[in-house]
Amino acid sequence: MYHDKKFSVVNPSKMCQPMGAVQALLGLKNAMPLIHGSQGCSTYMRFQLTRHFREPIEVASTSMNEKTVIYGGEYNLMKALKNITEKQSPSIIAVASSCLTETIGDDMAGIIRKFEDANIDRELPVIVPISTPSYTESHVEGYNRTIKALVENLVIPTAPNGKVNVITGFLSPADVGEVKNILNDLKLEGIILTDISKNLDAPLSESALNLYDGGTTVEQLEDTANSTGTIALSKHADSAGVFLEKKFGVNLISGPLPLGLENTDSFIRSACQLADLEIPESMERDRGRLMDAMVDAHSYNYHRKVAIFGDPDFVSAMTRFTSEMGMIPTVVCTGARSKRFTEDIDTISREKGCSPVTLAGGDLYDMHREIKRVRADILIGNSYGASIALEENIPLFRAGFPIFDRLGAQRISTLGYRGGIDFVDRLTNTILDFYYDEAGYEIVEEELEDVIIEDQEYAEEEM
Ligand code: SF4
Repeated sequence: MYHDKKFSVVNPSKMCQPMGAVQALLGLKNAMPLIHGSQGCSTYMRFQLTRHFREPIEVASTSMNEKTVIYGGEYNLMKALKNITEKQSPSIIAVASSCLTETIGDDMAGIIRKFEDANIDRELPVIVPISTPSYTESHVEGYNRTIKALVENLVIPTAPNGKVNVITGFLSPADVGEVKNILNDLKLEGIILTDISKNLDAPLSESALNLYDGGTTVEQLEDTANSTGTIALSKHADSAGVFLEKKFGVNLISGPLPLGLENTDSFIRSACQLADLEIPESMERDRGRLMDAMVDAHSYNYHRKVAIFGDPDFVSAMTRFTSEMGMIPTVVCTGARSKRFTEDIDTISREKGCSPVTLAGGDLYDMHREIKRVRADILIGNSYGASIALEENIPLFRAGFPIFDRLGAQRISTLGYRGGIDFVDRLTNTILDFYYDEAGYEIVEEELEDVIIEDQEYAEEEM
């Protein structure tokens, strides 16, 4: 369902492109993201990311104002590049545009070249311009453009390296860690684009203002053209993979997100196929454990109605997974106006025999209206769903981004067989907490009436 005639958005289910760019850049080693725009943009992004990951987040700004909007942002961008280079000595500065600088048409690549020419005698970091016009698409597209810009600007084809590039998309650090664990289990070396697993779930440190010393390196980005293949976990963030395939013949497998049984099977098959590997026994065991968890949980989840919202790849993968668990997706909503998303949901609906209301380009207002109409027993999505869940008297299972009203978002793992087991346990326990009594027996209304009648009869006998 598209909303072609809608002129306003009420509680959006997406964020702006530079937000996706920054999250991708936080997975780089010794890198500084620089937003070419007004200061509020970088403040908003730092605030949103900090309250989700509970880590210090460094995002620089060219701090545009009324004057620079009229005369252009060249002076501010040159000055910001000079300050960052001198004060923080990063290996890479990635400059993402914003609504404002896209609208005035600043030539970021030209200004960066001018800065490099003026400093030809100095050792400069790699500087990459990324066009992220925030008034179109969403943070997912910002992420996509950023990975593509990094690869396009840095790649150096040399000799085959036998590695697999993995474009993760917008995941939690724990989920990126699980992707790395799976590659480890397969004894497969990967280049993770980009690796936030340690940077955004780091030990307590006194030097909070240092750039990250973990994450994907410039050398790894250069090496991506020499890999055996690329697996994009997000169908909406595979442009770097398309570029590598077209230009250097690096095979691309695009999606799905390895969330749930079938999607994880598909990811493992893709990785084994690219590297010509056998599926190891340990993995068969984890798969069996996930199936066991699903069977254990079945009696509690069977035919529960579920509404799901968030990023397109997450929502379609979660729709499939909850269907595999015997639940009934009734409303699925993403902020992106994505044909791939609606096609995915149509395929899942056909295969699983469900027919959810599908909102592509929808907002939380639309979703709430549909939940009122077709009902849901549980809502899966980020913290912005809390008020809807409260009004409908259903539980909110927090997943996605941002989660700011609970702790531990960086450690939530749903990917792979092991993350799937964790998800099944946590989702089922949420249902048990909300719909069942303390002994785990569902209190249905008829039983409740029987209990009341028995109590009344007992009270009368006592009188
Ligand atoms: S939507 Fe535009 S103005 Fe708002 S934070 Fe994003 S880039 Fe800045």
